[in-house]
Amino acid sequence: MSSQASIAGVNVLGKSAEELREFMQALGEPAYRGAQIYHALYAERRFDFAAMTNLPAALRERLSREAAIALPQVVRRYHSADGTVRYVLAIGAGESGSAKAANIETVFMPEENRQTICISTQAGCAVDCRFCLTATLGLVRNLTAGEIVGQVLVALEDNRAALKPQTNIVLMGQGEPLLNYDAVMAALRILLDPNAISISPKHATLSTSGIVPSIERMAREKVRPKLAISLNASSDEQRDKIMPINRKYPLEKLLGACRNYPLRPWEHLTFEYVLLGGFNDSPDDARRVVKLLANLRAKVNLIPWNPGDLPYEKPDAKRVAEFRAILADKDLPAFVRDSRGQDVMAACGQLALAESAAAL
Ligand code: SAH
Ligand code: SF4
Repeated sequence: MSSQASIAGVNVLGKSAEELREFMQALGEPAYRGAQIYHALYAERRFDFAAMTNLPAALRERLSREAAIALPQVVRRYHSADGTVRYVLAIGAGESGSAKAANIETVFMPEENRQTICISTQAGCAVDCRFCLTATLGLVRNLTAGEIVGQVLVALEDNRAALKPQTNIVLMGQGEPLLNYDAVMAALRILLDPNAISISPKHATLSTSGIVPSIERMAREKVRPKLAISLNASSDEQRDKIMPINRKYPLEKLLGACRNYPLRPWEHLTFEYVLLGGFNDSPDDARRVVKLLANLRAKVNLIPWNPGDLPYEKPDAKRVAEFRAILADKDLPAFVRDSRGQDVMAACGQLALAESAAAL
């Protein structure tokens, strides 16, 4: 693997097939070599030009000198008792040195027939939701397309021996994906391309705190993942208190954008609802959520709050069950998502680089 700190040449990771063709032409090589690099890098996961045996030897040597594959570097792995692995990855300062070096987190969750990889789209986050530990970092910086794609490649590579046939990705790590729109969409085009990393759009979910203009923009994308919205409250008054972004994009605007969102025939919207004990978990809250989501093809994921050093409480199990039942009774499919990897701070909202005794 190329070292992050010493990028000697142009970083090809994150480039599209078209950008790689242009890069080859700029080097005076035939454009189709770009497509070959694209396939070797993303479909075959060859992270060393020397191993790209579909290229002539002279070109491999030249690329080793003049280009780089700047994968994020594994700083630490935290292994949860449930099999989840939380990675702390270092992302460097890039070719120009203009970006800040930073650490980010990626979570690998093995299941019986598939794995789910939770990736970050920014280092830190500026949205400042009161219940989320990532918010305490503030925004460090946006990630590049290569740094977003790189997280998936590193996690797949690190678990190569144990991979299951299906990979799901969720853009639910650090950061607000729709505040880093261009890099996120460029990364998704590579992740979802059958000629590249080949994740099915049905197995990719982007979660947003509700950046309305970007939701409207995403609606027009040819290649797009499924959409999940962090609702987290049953009224504007309540949402204002825990998600300052609600003042800019209140529920009427947000749910209006959801109603206009062009769902594909197989698709539904997912609404996430973090249950904060004694704050938004009452039967009245549940009934208001049913009203808010009326006439939407939607399901709700209820996420009991994962503790961090913040002034909230986990909800009672009985309340959670009651909340779910009220939604389900009104034909609103609702699921309780107990987050994985809590013992190593890998669960939703816990990604803030906290140290843990389980490090390897
Ligand atoms: N920024 C995006 C995606 C990352 S957060 C967003 O907010 O949607 C992913 C999910 O974790 C969101 O639904 C968020 O509401 C939830 N979350 C944040 N902090 C949490 C916590 N402490 N416990 C449970 N879920 C949390
Ligand atoms: Fe950012 Fe999402 Fe955390 Fe809110 S919940 S601070 S948008 S990462």
